[in-house]
Amino acid sequence: MKLILFGAPGVGKGTQSKLLAQEFSIPQISTGDIFRRAIENKTELGKQAKDFLDKGILVPDLVVLGMVKERLKEEDTKKGFILDGFPRTIPQAEGLEKMLMEIGSRLDKVVEIRVPTEELNKRLVNRRLCRTCGEEYNLIYKPIPENGICVKCSGKEFYHRSDDSEEVVFKRNSEYEKNTFPLIEFYKNNKLLLSVDGVKPIEEVNKDILNLLKG
Ligand code: AMP
Repeated sequence: MKLILFGAPGVGKGTQSKLLAQEFSIPQISTGDIFRRAIENKTELGKQAKDFLDKGILVPDLVVLGMVKERLKEEDTKKGFILDGFPRTIPQAEGLEKMLMEIGSRLDKVVEIRVPTEELNKRLVNRRLCRTCGEEYNLIYKPIPENGICVKCSGKEFYHRSDDSEEVVFKRNSEYEKNTFPLIEFYKNNKLLLSVDGVKPIEEVNKDILNLLKG
């Protein structure tokens, strides 16, 4: 199964792709996570990406494509993968197609998760993450437990992503509208696009995606 989970920042791509990765026993590949790890580890890639992430703008296509190409060479992707946060531009989508063609493969589906913009802003600005395992909380919908201990890994430290501030979220949304939204038409034309309502509870969205993939 080779999937893309697609949608604006905050629709729940990360959450849903983690669930699908477990269900299909294939890796979730989040370009945002790879960049954040590289920045934390102060690697060359991290140095190249940091400024872009801080400002909420897209990392240049060539950097992203090079990184994804390397990741897709790893053994664990042979059975399939779920791309989360990639592609985000038409050149990235074309680059992905070319990479897959070179290994005699192609995408199975692109799942678009839809959530109204107002709701997205609320989700991002109130999002908090476990420092240890990355489990997501939300000050409104899923508060951090009162005992301050992560339900998943017992971690005790939570943080607010610096690019989830109101100002950077605004920039990320406008990047999405300008560069990423046109991909919907691209994948519609390729007959790969499926859409789900991402406002529903997490488990329901997951069920809807699985049903669509079966159909
Ligand atoms: P995300 O975690 O997917 O919200 O991504 C966080 C940030 O990483 C984005 O705001 C971009 O700066 C950068 N990024 C992640 N994926 C891509 C991509 N496919 N193309 C360009 N920039 C990306």
